[in-house]
Amino acid sequence: MTLYSRKLIDLPKTQILVVGSGSAVATAAITAAKLGCMVTLVERYGFMGGISTQVIDTFYGFFIPGDKPRKVVGGIPDLVIDRLFEQKAAIYRPNTYGAGQGITYDPEYLKVIWEQLATGSGVKILYHSLVIDIVMDKNELRGVILANKSGLYQLMADVVIDASGDADVAALCGVPFESAADQPVQSLTTTFKMINVDVERASKVKKSELHQLMANTSGYALPRKEGSVHITPLPGVMVTNMTRVTNINPLDVAQLSAAEIEGRSQALEYSRFLIDQVAGYEQAALGGLSTQIGVRESRRIFGEHRLTRQDVLSARKFEDAIAVCGAPIEEHHAGKDTRWEYLPAGETYQIPYRCLLPKTVEHLIVAGRCLSADHDAHASVRSMGQCMAMGQAAGAAAATSIVKKQTPHTVGINDLQAQLKKLGAVLE
Ligand SMILES: Cc1cc2nc3c(=O)[nH]c(=O)nc-3n(C[C@H](O)[C@H](O)[C@H](O)COP(=O)(O)OP(=O)(O)OC[C@H]3O[C@@H](n4cnc5c(N)ncnc54)[C@H](O)[C@@H]3O)c2cc1C
Repeated sequence: MTLYSRKLIDLPKTQILVVGSGSAVATAAITAAKLGCMVTLVERYGFMGGISTQVIDTFYGFFIPGDKPRKVVGGIPDLVIDRLFEQKAAIYRPNTYGAGQGITYDPEYLKVIWEQLATGSGVKILYHSLVIDIVMDKNELRGVILANKSGLYQLMADVVIDASGDADVAALCGVPFESAADQPVQSLTTTFKMINVDVERASKVKKSELHQLMANTSGYALPRKEGSVHITPLPGVMVTNMTRVTNINPLDVAQLSAAEIEGRSQALEYSRFLIDQVAGYEQAALGGLSTQIGVRESRRIFGEHRLTRQDVLSARKFEDAIAVCGAPIEEHHAGKDTRWEYLPAGETYQIPYRCLLPKTVEHLIVAGRCLSADHDAHASVRSMGQCMAMGQAAGAAAATSIVKKQTPHTVGINDLQAQLKKLGAVLE
């Protein structure tokens, strides 16, 4: 057997390299670029947004549960929301499980809005590129190796923000983490949309009625006897969160491949059930599946602080707060239902900057769903509102470290919080 080796090609060095383009890192990139830094974004797909455009269509976490919606995310994330409303591509929507008001949007518009905000701020985007390795000097991260159809590239950076969802960079650097191989792990979901729905009639079907129908109707293989379907800004279109593929380690590609196949197959079955059994869907059709199966958790790094279930439920406050969250613990475990646990009414906890700082490695910040948190805390803090708020903090910290010639670990928390307040972030 012959191996044909490729030459490693150098790309121009960047100040800040962001890996991925989900809610967290997209916000990080826009923030750092607006603060005057040279930012390069590397994404394996051909569009931005991660789960926000691949899988789902509702930002939660901006508002906390309660009768009067209280907004706990602000700053750069608001630019995204404002653009969506300007384009008439979003609606406010109460959450049926009491997780706080959501903002439901058209993901196709969001793809373009992420790009407009990023390129408009000066972010350089490299799509269709997978980060596969890293360049280290002792415990200092210096850059990454990425692969794409054009070749194999080395891209050096002063600071790397890993918001790959799976903490790919942190794991390659040897940062300790807890992974989906260590149970429990949240289930995976293929979302799908129904078109040509009589939305008025379909919306009148109460959640409890839908769940009863699922539980009592035979002839359909529905592993989850609950789940939700909601209105969207588009006429005749409803979007679901119903399928459930359990006990999968999404870091094992063979298991993930099997989950993709199972998720799509379940989506067809749930769609058949809706059309046959539920009022308003008589003339409807399956209008699209998520780009890939939705992965709720894979790796969670061990950082300088580990957000815990106790931190969440006791509404804990921190001196190095960079964001706020009031979302309940929402755990999609194996089985027919979902576990919900709420903070005391009207309360919030703070997310400390240390949850974004990996132990052992310098020049690396982690943001989004791969932050340092235990399984239950993660089930609360992973909403996109908080991912965007963490991304804003990561971008501001990276930019501050460059301006002040410090490292992410030595950035003064007062400087960072002052910068975040200037951007409009909510810190308490
Ligand atoms: C089924 C499901 C339903 C959910 N429902 C909601 C909801 O209704 N509302 C809500 O607010 N939250 C919801 N969540 C949670 C929320 O969507 C996620 O926690 C959040 O979007 C994670 O954002 P992120 O930026 O951390 O990561 P991701 O959105 O996962 O982004 C990671 C990005 O990195 C890219 N990437 C990964 N590895 C590499 C690599 N090696 N090289 C280059 N690129 C790479 C990926 O392609 C992706 O674009 C849901 C999650 C799931 C799975």
